Amino acid sequence: MSVTNKIWKLRKRPVGDVSEGDLEFVEEPVRALEDGEVRIRTVFLSLDPTNRIWMSDRDQYMPPVEIGDPMRGGGIAIVEESRFDGLAPGDVVNSGLGQWSLYMIKRGEEVNKLPDIPGVPLTAFMGPLGMTGMTAYFGLMDIGKPKKGETVVVSAAAGAVGSMVGQIAKIQGCRAVGIAGSDEKCRWLTETAGFDAAINYKKEDVAAGLDRHCPDGIDVNFENVGGEIMDTILPRLNDFARMPLCGLISSYNATEPVPGPYNFAMFLMRHVTLKGYIVTDYMERFPEGMQAMGQWLSEGKLRFETDVVEGLENAPASLERLFTGKNLGKLVVKVSEPE
Ligand code: NDP
Repeated sequence: MSVTNKIWKLRKRPVGDVSEGDLEFVEEPVRALEDGEVRIRTVFLSLDPTNRIWMSDRDQYMPPVEIGDPMRGGGIAIVEESRFDGLAPGDVVNSGLGQWSLYMIKRGEEVNKLPDIPGVPLTAFMGPLGMTGMTAYFGLMDIGKPKKGETVVVSAAAGAVGSMVGQIAKIQGCRAVGIAGSDEKCRWLTETAGFDAAINYKKEDVAAGLDRHCPDGIDVNFENVGGEIMDTILPRLNDFARMPLCGLISSYNATEPVPGPYNFAMFLMRHVTLKGYIVTDYMERFPEGMQAMGQWLSEGKLRFETDVVEGLENAPASLERLFTGKNLGKLVVKVSEPE
């Protein structure tokens, strides 16, 4: 029986925002499996700010997607056909790094079977128990090194990574202050996720908000955004503050070089440790992160939201949700049913 795939391919490099025609939706037959391979069907495709980085040919942490190649991405999938001993049709897997497509053929050892944990929805494996959860956990715990009583500030706080960072900070006994782009997000942060305070940067003066909500200064700045927001945080860092540099989303669509932080001198004056990292740096320690996040999730200490867009055909147009701030929590595309 022949199976037809649907794939998004990169046709040209976006200039600024991703626009129609940058990617093309094509149909192709799926080839037969070889020994050791599985055919998986995507259930949830992860949409991430880094998709925009991969579409560009700027200097980056891995090779860009080449023009004409399938768009890179990952998510959760179901095994439909297997010629690999460890996996059977019906198994739910993390597809690892794959592509924006309905089907993928992978080596069996490249995908991880997901455990069926009672009470834990599949979407948790895109959020707290997925890549963004691991990004929050290792960035904060390993680089941020939060100590009880310290103040942790996180930007893009109501997003997939940021929402976890603030909640982990609370679990560590810290004061958690989030910066986000709407009143609804700020309410969610304080009323649902347990942040001590939230600042709506689109409406409030961020400097005044930080002064009000961080009376003892800032010990950890978990940086997701860069630009003006980061620059406003820097002079408020305490001596020996730590700064996990996770992302710089405010510049991913930039068409001109972006200025460096005006308050760069603060790294020196306040003895700050700044470390950029990519979540895959911690791959070998994922079991530790999964264990901790799974434990907190089962204890009801982590709240998470998933922003679900229906249909693979809507993937490129939905990416803008990350750059306009329409998403609350992890943005995913539901590509097919989970059975
Ligand atoms: P989010 O779910 O946080 O979505 C992105 C959010 O960023 C939006 O909802 C929006 O929220 C905010 N945002 C967008 N543009 C701007 C802007 N110009 N100024 C301020 N805020 C903006 O995405 P993720 O949690 O997946 O990613 C968050 C950050 O973490 C990104 O920078 C990403 O690249 C990075 N990241 C890094 C990883 C690593 O390994 N280092 C791994 C995963 C993510 P709002 O409404 O508040 O503006």
